[in-house]
Amino acid sequence: MDDSADYVIVGGGSAGCVLAARLSEDPSVRVVLLEAGGEGRDFLVKMPAGTAKLMGHPGFDWCLPTQPDPSIGGRRMQWAAGKALGGSSAINGQVYMRGERSDYDAWERMGCTGWGYDAIFPYFLKAEKFHGPPSQSHGSHGAQDVSPIQDQQPIGQHVIDAFVQAGIPLNEDYCDGSQNGVYRIFATQKDGQRSSTARSYLEPVRHRPNLTILTRAEADRVVIEGGRATGIEFRHEGQRRTIAARREVLVCAGTLLSPTLLMRSGIGPARHLAEHGITVQADLPGVGQNLREHNSISIAKLVSIPTMSAQLGPFRLVRHLLNYLLFKRGMLTTPAVQVMAAFRTDPDLPDPDIILSMLPVAVNFNDKGAAVVEQRPSFSFGFHVARPQSRGEIRLRSADPAEKPVIDHRLQSAQSDVDKLVRGLKIVEGVCRSPALASIITGTLRPDPLPTSDAEWEAYVRGFGGVGYHAVGTCRMGPDGDALTVLDPQLRVRGIAGLRVVDASVMPEPVSANTNAPTIMIAERAADLIRNGG
Ligand SMILES: Cc1cc2nc3c(=O)[nH]c(=O)nc-3n(C[C@H](O)[C@H](O)[C@H](O)COP(=O)(O)OP(=O)(O)OC[C@H]3O[C@@H](n4cnc5c(N)ncnc54)[C@H](O)[C@@H]3O)c2cc1C
Repeated sequence: MDDSADYVIVGGGSAGCVLAARLSEDPSVRVVLLEAGGEGRDFLVKMPAGTAKLMGHPGFDWCLPTQPDPSIGGRRMQWAAGKALGGSSAINGQVYMRGERSDYDAWERMGCTGWGYDAIFPYFLKAEKFHGPPSQSHGSHGAQDVSPIQDQQPIGQHVIDAFVQAGIPLNEDYCDGSQNGVYRIFATQKDGQRSSTARSYLEPVRHRPNLTILTRAEADRVVIEGGRATGIEFRHEGQRRTIAARREVLVCAGTLLSPTLLMRSGIGPARHLAEHGITVQADLPGVGQNLREHNSISIAKLVSIPTMSAQLGPFRLVRHLLNYLLFKRGMLTTPAVQVMAAFRTDPDLPDPDIILSMLPVAVNFNDKGAAVVEQRPSFSFGFHVARPQSRGEIRLRSADPAEKPVIDHRLQSAQSDVDKLVRGLKIVEGVCRSPALASIITGTLRPDPLPTSDAEWEAYVRGFGGVGYHAVGTCRMGPDGDALTVLDPQLRVRGIAGLRVVDASVMPEPVSANTNAPTIMIAERAADLIRNGG
């Protein structure tokens, strides 16, 4: 490999694959993509139901432990982050969601010029290759496959009917900037298989002579000379190597690892860097701060109709496996989430404050992130606070790149987040009493017994609440003059030339949605900013 390129991209995840594909469209520039994980072409990655096995699997997941969190009873968790080409889009739940118009308009109002809804909407369309019926709010010529779910479970219709009976309307098109209501979701899939960004963006362009992709190549630090990023030091096949960047270094290592790479390179809170003996290149106190997550809680019910839970015994699984292998059809093509709802816990709110996912299985996660599945017919609801206020931070454990970062998340530290979840839980228990669900629910799995007061619901949230796997915000963009912003609205790192961050970490505030499609949108827009010299 040549030891220089115009653009060196660190991290081939949701954002990194988009940038590699878009920037290498210009044959006159040379692009190198460094990815710490492998190729991500494995059977479990391609099969949609493989998600459950990929989470916590060290071959595909960074498996990042957290600090004990006092806001959830001192529990430690393990956060998942994809480690392969495709990044977290290679292990995620494949739910396709964009968020509310008002999410992005709030970014613009905060000083993130150019990120309001009207400006970013065309990038959602540009990114998308929609395989459903033609619609003005979907793109059909992009790279990212988005498909209706093939194997709809009957429980989904019961859930939709129950919400409508409870006064929460059916939303025919949740991708048009308003997610209010209940709906069947679309998935980042094609022909019954996962469509990670590695598959959708990178595969078709890998042959380009101006694009080099190195897997198992882990970046240690950004090389900075005279206030400019000039390259990347990385490890590959047991060797230390350096690659020079003639134009820019683009950091796309994700919310949990981009700030770590910046800090190891001398970009971050000066005092913290000094603690680890790292020479300060730019004192940016916001690096690693503003860690935001969709704090979540779930409930589970037993039902009298078949759901996926009852299909998970070994004999039935063999039949489903054959159906998948031979025809790419059936239960193993389905993401775990099939129906979602967004609703307000207070009628005076302008937008939904709870995002609800219905899973046709009753799944729980233990504190190591492992799924525990109920085999009787059952389903579960997972709740996220749409725009959580709880904040945590990422710090360095040491200057050694082999050390995992300190994740200090404080997941339910904002009482307002807990209160929203409690109100949301009570509303959904009410929906479960609507005829369409009451007629099939035969019992409650979790919580058992059902809480009878707000205090008991709060104890349930703090005792059993977890993450939504949608971490954002640790290298946030924002206006000049805001000391905690890491990037300007063009995603350029403050104080260092030739360096940008492009991934979920740049979001200044969480969006009311799962974060893959928003991250792809960010990378699409970033590619234009980079090409236009913005
Ligand atoms: C288990 C799980 C389920 C999810 N489910 C959904 C869902 O259903 N729908 C949805 O919209 N969103 C979902 N998400 C969230 C979504 O997938 C992520 O927000 C999105 O993929 C983040 O993209 P990114 O580019 O910021 O980071 P990533 O996609 O995580 O990419 C970062 C990449 O950088 C690489 N990297 C890190 N450090 C280095 C280094 N030092 N050197 C080289 N490479 C490095 C990593 O290996 C990785 O490939 C889920 C996430 C997870 C983890």
